[in-house]
Amino acid sequence: MKFDTIIIGGGLSGLVAGNYLVRHGQRCVIISSGQSALHFSSGSLDLLNFLPDGTAVSHPSTSVAQLVAQAPAHPYAKLGVVKFNELTAKAERLMEEWGIQLEGSALKNHYRVTPMGTLKPTWLTLKEYAVAESENSLPWKKVAIFNVAGFLDFYTQFVVDEFRKWGTECESHLIHLPALENLRKNPSEMRSVNIARLFDQTENLDLLALDLQREAGDVEVILLPAVLGITQTGTLKYLCQKTGKEIRVLPTLPPSVPGIRTQQRLRKCFQDQGGVYMLGDTVLRAEKEQDRVVRLYSYNHGDIPFVAENVILASGSYFSQGLVAAPDRVYEPIFDLDVDFVAHRNQWYDLNVFARQPYHGFGVKTTADFRGLYRGQMLKNVYVAGALLEGFNPIKEGCGGGVSVLTALYVAEQILSK
Ligand SMILES: Cc1cc2nc3c(=O)[nH]c(=O)nc-3n(C[C@H](O)[C@H](O)[C@H](O)COP(=O)(O)OP(=O)(O)OC[C@H]3O[C@@H](n4cnc5c(N)ncnc54)[C@H](O)[C@@H]3O)c2cc1C
Repeated sequence: MKFDTIIIGGGLSGLVAGNYLVRHGQRCVIISSGQSALHFSSGSLDLLNFLPDGTAVSHPSTSVAQLVAQAPAHPYAKLGVVKFNELTAKAERLMEEWGIQLEGSALKNHYRVTPMGTLKPTWLTLKEYAVAESENSLPWKKVAIFNVAGFLDFYTQFVVDEFRKWGTECESHLIHLPALENLRKNPSEMRSVNIARLFDQTENLDLLALDLQREAGDVEVILLPAVLGITQTGTLKYLCQKTGKEIRVLPTLPPSVPGIRTQQRLRKCFQDQGGVYMLGDTVLRAEKEQDRVVRLYSYNHGDIPFVAENVILASGSYFSQGLVAAPDRVYEPIFDLDVDFVAHRNQWYDLNVFARQPYHGFGVKTTADFRGLYRGQMLKNVYVAGALLEGFNPIKEGCGGGVSVLTALYVAEQILSK
């Protein structure tokens, strides 16, 4: 099977690169084993919340210069300040064009509400979510929070307690609908995705609207767990029209309904433009000739090789098995690319789980233009993007989404410029 570019991994990074390349006329395949981090997403993409030295960041587009000085191996340092700013603006525009409705800007972080009701800085948030401009106040004085009775992945009381600390009047309510009774018979069925499927049916949404109208009172906004719109778009808009109220959602524990919808939307957009998406297949190995990868082999396709001019490796970090931690080493399993890690396992982690964990910064070493290295030699047609890159800490720096999107766009641009 011949393509212009083969992309390994169908998470945020692979999908962004794929959409950009097919939009510019490339014939691309995305091969993806399975779920990605988007299925667990908060609904926000973080760009830069803290510098490596722990300084809080409120204006990523200006603070990135300090990051470049502090962390030369960071993916943003490889991009450089000018490219970072160019790509953030491009990403904001492209996401909109691909049908992902987001609010926010790289010029200034805004704040998302966590499942615990606290506020965290972030770059872009799906428009349906509740957000705040300030880190210590909410935009509403009076809100009503509803939860589905029996839904255990959303803890209303934590949120209520936090909101009251900021002086926002907040009442919680339970939703009881006949359609939910069947789910409730088996507590393990009471998950966000199953609830969302029920609310994708108009008759259930109409009953929910009546419930909300009856119970909410004169609040400025109704807040619901993010269990709306798994197969349908426009569910929240419909509910707002029906109730005549502003309604926003709050993140639940995983799986993330809006994250799954984002994944599906990006995948559809890619396929609509002619991209080939192979879900449930795993790339197992590669054959090289000199400094190029010439054939890839996957689990489902056995001896039939995938052939392309370029390969983008966007297989994620440990979570997606793009990086594998063995007792004595951290390795990249497809190409055995060079990985930056420290030799002694007891230096991989800090016993204080809240401390900066060295293993979070391990990752695939690349050239300045994100080409993979094999035993110190550049592989000319293998580009690396996203969570498996070396040199950044997505948790301590709050930059996971940004690294994935910006490096994906960057490598796609490199391929097109050849
Ligand atoms: C649980 C979790 C939640 C997160 N939530 C957020 C968030 O809310 N906001 C934020 O900014 N960042 C978040 N992050 C950081 C996250 O890493 C990035 O935001 C981003 O989504 C990662 O995208 P990716 O495409 O690089 O990797 P992934 O999303 O991990 O995708 C990699 C894909 O590659 C596939 N794959 C792996 N190996 C192979 C193979 N051999 N063959 C074929 N396919 C393969 C996997 O199945 C997977 O689909 C989260 C990370 C995790 C782990």
